[in-house]
Formats: sequence, C-alpha cells, structure tokens
Amino acid sequence: MSGLKLSPSIYGADLGDLRGAIRQLEAAKVELLHVDVMDGHFVYNMGFGVDHVRQIKNMTSIPLDVHLMIERPERLVEDFCKAGADMITVHAESTTRLLSCLEKIKANGKKAGIVLCPATHESILQYCLDSTDMVLQMMYNPGEVSLFHDNLLEKLTSIRKMFGDRDIDLEVDGGITDKNIKKVKDAGANVFVSGGFVFKGDVAENIQKLRDELAK
Ligand code: ZN
Repeated sequence: MSGLKLSPSIYGADLGDLRGAIRQLEAAKVELLHVDVMDGHFVYNMGFGVDHVRQIKNMTSIPLDVHLMIERPERLVEDFCKAGADMITVHAESTTRLLSCLEKIKANGKKAGIVLCPATHESILQYCLDSTDMVLQMMYNPGEVSLFHDNLLEKLTSIRKMFGDRDIDLEVDGGITDKNIKKVKDAGANVFVSGGFVFKGDVAENIQKLRDELAK
C-alpha cells in the first residue's frame, strides 16, 4: 500500500478566498488537493470546471486530485489533463467507456482512477485494475449527505483485497472526520478526502486531528 495521504476538498473552503485556503493547506503540508467537478446532471449541484482547475493549478504546487462527477467524462478528460489535473477519477456509473477514459488520462501522463458510488458493486473493477492508479469509494452518494454506513467498511476491505500486490491507492470521500478516519484506514483506505470537517474552524488544527487519528 502507498503511504497515507490527506486530500482536502477545496469545495469545502470559503470560495471567496481560495488563495487563502490553499495557503493554509500548503502550511499544513497536505499531500493532495481534491477538486470536485460537478455538472448539474450526474449530480444536481454544480462545482468546479476546467477553467477553475487551471486557476487552482496556477496557485499551488500541491498535486491536484480531480474528481469528475459529470456525465460522459470521456468528452472532457483531456481538457482536465491539460488544465493541470495530476490525477483524475471518473465514476463507473457515469460512462459506458470506462477503460477508454482511463487510457486517455494515462496517455496524457496523468494518474487515472475509478470512483464507485456506495451501491455500485466492486466487481466492476475486476477488468480495469491494470489500468487504474486509484479507486475512490464514495461513503455517500455524490452531491448528497447521509449517515456513515458501516457496511462500506467491508467493501473497502474487499476492494483492497482485489488489488493484490498492485500499487493502487484506495481513496474515500464523503463525510470523513476525525471520528471515522481511523475506521476507514483500518478497513484499507490510504487516501482521505475531507471538506466540511477540514474547513470548519481552524484548518491547521483540524488537519492535525486527522493526522493524529491516522497515527493511532
Ligand atoms: Zn470528491
């Protein structure tokens, strides 16, 4: 398993002061910066687009972990690569061309990953693992907030087992806080998205709380 990495979601920051939020994350030495892209179709909300990724790339050297919550991502993955994404994850539920999406991303020299909604069976990964650098398991449906479902811990363990000795990151997204980050780590996750928790109050203190839990 690769090392433990925090990937705070910049969507949770004060969007009126993106630069300030990014400075705080740099000071806290987070490993990745998670950018939630939403198209108003795959999820009803709208989030960052290609131009925002380009602007964020110009503000920081933290690698950008771009999560595409968009329909038919094959139309746009190359634009996101060119805009400065360092890794791009696409939802298995959003395309009938999952493998070609991954291959396009990798052909652009970026890391490619697959996202699964809570109810999507992990067996869909079986024929894609050799084209995948990362799997992102949603802890709730994208664009929604729900309770923490403990049965997803079993799914994380099952996915980690499927990786075998491949060097693939297992990321979790959705409601991650200092109360549950250790549980998802123990289940097999090694990359942790957190938005609401990190940006509510003191960013440095919140990130330290997550790191303390991961160290236990
Ligand atoms: Zn996300």
